[in-house]
Amino acid sequence: MSNVTRVIIVLLVAAAVVGVMAAKRSATAKDQPAAPGPAPASPTSAAPAPPASSLPRLVDLGAKKCIPCKMMAPILEELKKTCAGKIEVEFIDVWEKPEEAKKYNVDLIPTQIFFDAAGKERFRHGGFFSREDIAAKWKELGVEIPATAPAAEAKPAFSRLEPATPDTRAKESICYLCDGDINPKTRTVLKTDKGEVAFCSPHCYFITHSSMPENKPDVDDISVADWAAGVMIPAVSAKYVYGVDAGNRATIKAFGDAAAADAERQATGGNTIEWAGLQNKELATTCGFCDRAVYPEDACGVKIEGGLSTWGCCTMCALGVAARLQKDIEVTAKDSFSGDKIAVKTAAGHVASLEPQSAVAWAGTKKDAEGKLVSTGCFKQAFFVNEDNLKKWVEAHPTATGRMIPIEQALVEKMKLTPQQISKACKIGECTPK
Ligand SMILES: [Zn+2]
Ligand SMILES: [Zn+2]
Repeated sequence: MSNVTRVIIVLLVAAAVVGVMAAKRSATAKDQPAAPGPAPASPTSAAPAPPASSLPRLVDLGAKKCIPCKMMAPILEELKKTCAGKIEVEFIDVWEKPEEAKKYNVDLIPTQIFFDAAGKERFRHGGFFSREDIAAKWKELGVEIPATAPAAEAKPAFSRLEPATPDTRAKESICYLCDGDINPKTRTVLKTDKGEVAFCSPHCYFITHSSMPENKPDVDDISVADWAAGVMIPAVSAKYVYGVDAGNRATIKAFGDAAAADAERQATGGNTIEWAGLQNKELATTCGFCDRAVYPEDACGVKIEGGLSTWGCCTMCALGVAARLQKDIEVTAKDSFSGDKIAVKTAAGHVASLEPQSAVAWAGTKKDAEGKLVSTGCFKQAFFVNEDNLKKWVEAHPTATGRMIPIEQALVEKMKLTPQQISKACKIGECTPK
């Protein structure tokens, strides 16, 4: 291994350890004394020109143990990566190679020397030189590089962006909204000019209905499965037996025949209602963030400062209530794997308390046609009491894709939304599975 390679490897390790701190300090560090003294030195004290390069070149002469040199390391690494093809960046350790210090006529470290594409020295600076100052100097010399380092992409601790196994279900057996399997006994179909859209139940149809800001479907375009006969019948003329399951969640059974509906109601309980009554019940509770219809049993509870409360149709929507109302909230959610309770209190757009503190969010995310990461919709968002439960849940859902993120990050992403973006949140076409 050459000395240069070894030096760079050492610096990479140093960069990984001190990188964040150094980057944060870079704005102020230039006010601190550089080792061993102030600069800039004059470009006329020119060193022998290095071999001509076809690109402008930045040479930093330093040493791996000098503090300002160490602070330069992550900047040099970043420039090497993000400015490849625009400038060449080279680090030389002059303690390991004293002859290089002589060659470049350097007597203080770190020193940065700017060479133009012809290999002519145009500027040199002694001491720590910030990322912004380097970009400004290159600009002055006619070389455009990004003015600041691109924001480091928050790397999730755990993610899966491609399904573990492909979804092989037939399209007509998958609910358009929730992506769940369609039970033929509760199948609900909306006729559109683009074809038929199938839902697992009238409930998923009503959620869709509630997220269509205009041009609500014509009731004549909706059909439902007859619970008893198994055939599709017009939704508007059906009778509905509206009951609750063991989890207190509404059950909706459609019948073309009033006597069959009555028999079912007598056998299993509930009420018999018409389409209009069903619609009123289904649209009675809505998400405090996106306005979609929700069953409270499926939703996250949201307490708003001042005593009001509402619902979030998913964990992300629940956090979004803080952004929509610009108020502090308390979200109560359930771990999607174990059902354990998770409570998040916010203050001024940040997490003020998290119970349990190990809780994390799963941001359901997928790559769109252009490879950009996009949300997979409300039904694919989740909280977990810890990373372990999240991983178990991901394991159990081989088609789920997404990223594990801190709940603070999930909240901050919502707080960044504009009122216009919030008003469009979860509206059809943006957030629904295809
Ligand atoms: Zn569904
Ligand atoms: Zn919502």
